[in-house]
Amino acid sequence: MNPAAYRGRFAPSPTGPMHFGSLVAAVASYADARHQHGEWLVRIEDVDETRRQADAERSILQTLQAFGMQWDGPTVRQRERGALYDRVLAVLVERRLAYRCSCSRRLIASTAMLGSEGAIYPGTCRDHPPAPDTVAAWRMIVGRDTLVVDDRIVGEVVQDLAAEIGDFIIRRSDGFTAYQLAVVVDDQLQGITHVVRGADLLWSTPRQLWLQRQLGYATPSYAHIPLVYAADGHKLSKSDGAHPVRLHDPVRSLREAWHHLGQPEAPNGLDNPADFWAWAIPHWRLDQVPLDRNSTHERPDTL
Ligand code: GLU
Repeated sequence: MNPAAYRGRFAPSPTGPMHFGSLVAAVASYADARHQHGEWLVRIEDVDETRRQADAERSILQTLQAFGMQWDGPTVRQRERGALYDRVLAVLVERRLAYRCSCSRRLIASTAMLGSEGAIYPGTCRDHPPAPDTVAAWRMIVGRDTLVVDDRIVGEVVQDLAAEIGDFIIRRSDGFTAYQLAVVVDDQLQGITHVVRGADLLWSTPRQLWLQRQLGYATPSYAHIPLVYAADGHKLSKSDGAHPVRLHDPVRSLREAWHHLGQPEAPNGLDNPADFWAWAIPHWRLDQVPLDRNSTHERPDTL
């Protein structure tokens, strides 16, 4: 099979029904993919099964359908992919790029320096491995290189992982694969060429680049779109139950999402999602998408 020239994806975590913030992410990745005649996949990011909410997956998929966003191929679910993540972790361990860590959050908080993304892990267990029977996470060793992401919206994002993050968790002590590893494995195995997602993940991208490099994977092109903030300044999240989308009036929600993305106003008379998309796809302009107001120092909260 020839690799796709453009294969994008929408990767919701099923922690609640779709809210306006996740609709914006879906709209941006869908419009960008279809504008470039690309494929668009849906991946359910439920690697952390404890956060999965019954029915959220069904409700998200129904919303996408009701809003006229048709995806290509089967829906992939991270909870069914544990064996793939295990295999990649084993490769990293075998190559001595990962080590076990039993440090508690509290210990790290009391000993580590604080970087823009939280505590910078000081490498304690790299030098003093925990006893073999201790419950432990796995950390990825980072190098001293400066990583540069050339984001299509934000521009150059530069991070020195060793100085700003430290060795980071790729398998949690409760046994769940960490978001950073799962997303890198999935983007590679699904042949994703373009990632369009929320700016809360901007500063996760250098860690993802690092993993891609160590594993010999391709690096997709990235575009981080502005988040939607609630009136109190917090990012909308599904777990808040905040701002659900208007299922009874999809075109209105699509217009609102389009507006949030800085796109030209859609004409009157687009009565259903199919009409909206027939107009919107050729009119999509990524260069009109505004910057997120906090994108330079937002802490990632997706693990
Ligand atoms: N699952 C993440 C979320 O719902 C998105 C991850 C990604 O796009 O890389 O926020």
